[in-house]
Amino acid sequence: LSLTEKLQARIESGEPFFSLEFFPPRTKSGAANLLSRLERLRHGGPLFCDITWHPAGNPGGNSETSSMTIASAALNYCCLETILHMTCTEATVDDLNRHLARAKELGIKNILALRGDRNEEGRPSDFSYATQLVRHIREEYGNYFVVAVAGYPTGHPEAVSYEEDLKHLKEKVDAGADFIITQLFFKPEYFIKFVNDCREIGIRVPIIPGVMPIQSYESLRHMVKLSRLEVPDEIVNVIKSLKDNDEAIRNFGIHQAVTMIRTLFQSGVAPGVHFYTLNREVAVTCIAKQLGLWNLHPHRALPWKVVPNHRRCQ
Ligand code: FAD
Repeated sequence: LSLTEKLQARIESGEPFFSLEFFPPRTKSGAANLLSRLERLRHGGPLFCDITWHPAGNPGGNSETSSMTIASAALNYCCLETILHMTCTEATVDDLNRHLARAKELGIKNILALRGDRNEEGRPSDFSYATQLVRHIREEYGNYFVVAVAGYPTGHPEAVSYEEDLKHLKEKVDAGADFIITQLFFKPEYFIKFVNDCREIGIRVPIIPGVMPIQSYESLRHMVKLSRLEVPDEIVNVIKSLKDNDEAIRNFGIHQAVTMIRTLFQSGVAPGVHFYTLNREVAVTCIAKQLGLWNLHPHRALPWKVVPNHRRCQ
């Protein structure tokens, strides 16, 4: 089954799922640690994991820490359904073609097609928007890849308006995207409104809410700076008062995420939840367990214990 079909099956069965985002670590030992973590998290039965892409590095390269290598290892060694992110800023069409061909060669079947953040000093780009990358993938590869795109419940920070941003999101879907994963947000009502607004303008594909459990004061500050989001005062006040107590912040983050996700599930707009893990496992495991999402559909036993050929992960 393709990831789209698996997603559709979960939507039809009404059983919510979880999925997990990771970024490629900087060092070889970090990569080894991440793979061990993926192996443990795999037992919880995530629908998929996804690996981010950072144009400043060499994400499509062959090093142990490139996005391409980590995504391939997650898929081929950890047997996780894997999405590889790919951005089109600072890339020529030739670069993108090379990355897509390599992804296909490695067995990767899912791409999160993104524009990426613009960098005036970076290398030139052939494409200006993610829509062009989606269209390009469809033109070159037909339906070989499942293609996901990013959505922004409070509007993309550069957008002229929330409404304009929604129109551009619809263009991405019309160009061939199979589903949407959203930017993180801190209040369930943002996502509920966003889904309703998307449906109103004719966006019919599944929309998966992105949730970042708050795990420390520093990581919250970092993510908020990157995504240019505003954190509601009620959250800022609690986090500030707990600033030097990481364990207390993590417990608060778990409680806040569980409460928000429960509201999303009860409102019937979220088929599952996508976690921005920041490469950590304790909080997401705890949240998935509290929500009854953990291990509902365990994957098969480890490949070396069952099937002795290259088809072991299928
Ligand atoms: P687009 O969909 O191209 O939109 C960018 C902006 O352009 C929006 O304001 C949109 O309204 C506007 N726009 C779109 N089309 C048009 C048009 N035709 N005319 C005028 N304006 C238009 N970044 C990374 O570098 N690596 C990652 O791995 C990564 N993963 C992400 C995963 C998720 C789920 C999300 C939500 C974001 C991720 N990002 C990542 C961040 C993302 O790259 C940035 O938010 C980037 O600024 C926008 O990317 P996009 O694909 O949403 O762009």
